[in-house]
Amino acid sequence: MRRALGYIADGFLDALFPPDAVCFVCGMEARLDEYPACPGCAAALRQAAKLAGARKLQGVTDVYAALAYNETMRAVIHRLKYRGERWLARPLAGLIRLPEGRVADVIVPVPLHEQRRRERGYNQSALIARALGARVALPVDEGALYRVRATQSQSQLSKPLRAQNVLGAFAAQNVAGKTILLVDDVITTGSTLEACAGALKGAYAKAVFAAGVCSA
Ligand SMILES: [Zn+2]
Repeated sequence: MRRALGYIADGFLDALFPPDAVCFVCGMEARLDEYPACPGCAAALRQAAKLAGARKLQGVTDVYAALAYNETMRAVIHRLKYRGERWLARPLAGLIRLPEGRVADVIVPVPLHEQRRRERGYNQSALIARALGARVALPVDEGALYRVRATQSQSQLSKPLRAQNVLGAFAAQNVAGKTILLVDDVITTGSTLEACAGALKGAYAKAVFAAGVCSA
């Protein structure tokens, strides 16, 4: 209750945010660690943070991936994407560590195709982007990047097929001269982010950085 006023100001996403004392990973009530997680889950998250390797993606200056994509994180991301647990976007965005100072002019989420967004009701990457934007005080432009055609789900495709699948699938607007922080939930092969970076650069973005909660 003590934070109720802040929640109202933060809007709908935060209205769904459960009490501080619930671990977002296992759902147990506990005194929370530095992560909004119980001590056991926080230890697992710290381990996953150590294992998140550096990534190099074409057209992207630097990639900030919070955690390795392990079983624990797979389950949490699944709840956000497919079980409607939108509130998870905030603790997940809280895991993303950015360098000191202003990294970008604007945060841009990787878009879902409109049909899939309608089916799911929301774009999980946009929820993470909004939560991250609120945290680091950067604006979020959800319309800067958009899909110009539907793509197959990337999950069953090999790296070369993934690149082909998303080639030319995105277009960008309103980014000329801007430094962009591209946000996705999980970075797997990076094909999607590379295609997005290509579209942003094609629309004259000055530079593109990328951030993801997990990196596979
Ligand atoms: Zn826990």
